[in-house]
Amino acid sequence: MIETKEIKKSAPMNDGGITTQMFTYDHEEVLFCNDNATGLKAIIAIHNTVLGPSLGGCRIWKYNNEQEALNDVLRLSRGMTYKASVAGLNLGGGKSVIMGDAKSIKSEAFMRRFGRFVDDLGGKYITAEDVGSTSRDMEYIKMETNHVTGIPESMGGSGDPSPVTAYGVLLGMKAAANERWGSDSLKGKKVSVQGIGNVGEHLVKHLADEGAKIYITDINQEKLKEVASKYKAEVVALDAIYDIDVDIYAPCALGATVNNDTLNKLKCSIIAGSANNQLADEKVQGEELVKRGIIYAPDFVINSGGLINVYAELGGAYNKTRAMQHADKIYDITKSIFALAKAENIPTYLAANKVAEKRIEAIGRVKLNH
Ligand code: NAD
Repeated sequence: MIETKEIKKSAPMNDGGITTQMFTYDHEEVLFCNDNATGLKAIIAIHNTVLGPSLGGCRIWKYNNEQEALNDVLRLSRGMTYKASVAGLNLGGGKSVIMGDAKSIKSEAFMRRFGRFVDDLGGKYITAEDVGSTSRDMEYIKMETNHVTGIPESMGGSGDPSPVTAYGVLLGMKAAANERWGSDSLKGKKVSVQGIGNVGEHLVKHLADEGAKIYITDINQEKLKEVASKYKAEVVALDAIYDIDVDIYAPCALGATVNNDTLNKLKCSIIAGSANNQLADEKVQGEELVKRGIIYAPDFVINSGGLINVYAELGGAYNKTRAMQHADKIYDITKSIFALAKAENIPTYLAANKVAEKRIEAIGRVKLNH
């Protein structure tokens, strides 16, 4: 969760309305989309386009109400602005949410209609895969607009971003290990991975190659068994993941798993994983982690590999080597954030936010001068 800036004097009355929320989070545009013929109801939020066109996935989720969907899209699109900025990409932050059950609501017409809405924005927003949407859906969207990424590799796109995300998380973890123990090596380190889905499993593979002692948990029992035997990982119960004595905790399933309850249980020295918004309240837990001497590798910094991967698909043929070379920078970026946090005596999440805001401001000035 990214802290909101102080409301300026010219802010509209804080009546909880949509423009008030846009003002609070500093959004440029929000588009509400409706199509009765297909049943499509979506919101596209463009947070900031100073660095480039806004890019962010299309989440398809059964929200309880429109307000919940709006909150999600505003928060997630703002997060994308920060992620792209820290990763050094010429992209702004955007996101879209489609309201409904991904299992039953989608059809070719439904996704193509969404593609038309994306096209109407003329490239200010580029969509991609997210929870509930698949590369097949991106293919349908592509039939209506060029402003889409995450197309399958067989069609010249960047394909599944998870391996690049996992690689970036590994690099961020190594940067944190270096900060804590003076060495990048994860050999013999005890690492717990919560969620062994697309990213988690790739991360487990890297950790096995590194010689780490791996603990895993997931709600999917079959996958747990498979991954445990493939990589010699130890399975732990869902809640036990917070209690075990490990060096590194890698949240790779859900957000907000670092909260006041879990903080009292966690015994790790480092938190480094792929999940978005790991800190339930970044100000509260961000400061508490510093007090407890736990190094937090900010989520949006070390999980930017997926975004880096889709970025490599824009403006020309996708090149995996180029994407991996860009992802290599995550190590140095994470180190520089630790250094800033130390120099200014601030939590690492705040250092990461500052780096993101500084680049947007600087590039914004460059653009104003032309
Ligand atoms: P995924 O859906 O493939 O995997 C998530 C896994 O978590 C699943 O195996 C699921 O069964 C498990 N899970 C769900 N609830 C759980 C719980 N309570 N305890 C333990 N496990 C649980 O998703 P993914 O693509 O691997 O992404 C993982 C996380 O990383 C998500 O938070 C996602 O937003 C974030 N992320 C992913 C990418 C990417 O490239 N895929 C990029 C950036 C961030």
